[in-house]
Amino acid sequence: MTCPALPHGVSFWSFLLRIDRDLAQRSRRDECACGGRLHRADYPRKPRGCPDRLPDEYRRRFSFCCDRDGCRKRVTPPSVRFLGRRVYLGAMVILIAAMRQGATPRRVNELSRLIGADRTTISRWQVFWKEHFPKTTFWRIARARLVPAFEIVAYPLSIVEAFVENGSRQGWGNLLKFLSPITIARGLEIKVSEVPEQPAEDAHQRSRSPSKQTTATDSCS
Ligand SMILES: [Zn+2]
Repeated sequence: MTCPALPHGVSFWSFLLRIDRDLAQRSRRDECACGGRLHRADYPRKPRGCPDRLPDEYRRRFSFCCDRDGCRKRVTPPSVRFLGRRVYLGAMVILIAAMRQGATPRRVNELSRLIGADRTTISRWQVFWKEHFPKTTFWRIARARLVPAFEIVAYPLSIVEAFVENGSRQGWGNLLKFLSPITIARGLEIKVSEVPEQPAEDAHQRSRSPSKQTTATDSCS
């Protein structure tokens, strides 16, 4: 088994940024449950694992805040760049965890040194993908919708291989979009009705985006 590499360079990250902008746009179209309007209130992030010369916008997690006093609820859309509050970019977390299964230890070491992830951090990612992720509601439901179904030999490598052919940018985009519901609070526990419709037919050329947005809400303050 070999693990597909991430596409090189800034253009990959700007591609992901465009998808995130799109996901954010959809969340913003809905107003707050209280009827208030949603204003931009991004989270500053210091992601590790992307090129140093990326402009600031690439480092912000899009988020919105209700403008009504007394409500001020926060709405954070799913992201293809950020996995929860971690400082590591989602793609790197998946890639390094997958490489543990498919690449030489040297390549894994090089990559983890590059983004400053130590052995303990990487072990934690491994535990997440191997033990926690397969048992989540998100995965149980989302997996059943994937056609053609694919055999899982190892998490997350098998998932990466099912989506990404020859390290294609589109493939990585599709994979990250597929996983984006888990990037919001409680995303791993979302219910059946909230899992975005993932067209099951062509995992490889999938380009449709989720038909329904799942968003996390908490308070801005
Ligand atoms: Zn509100």
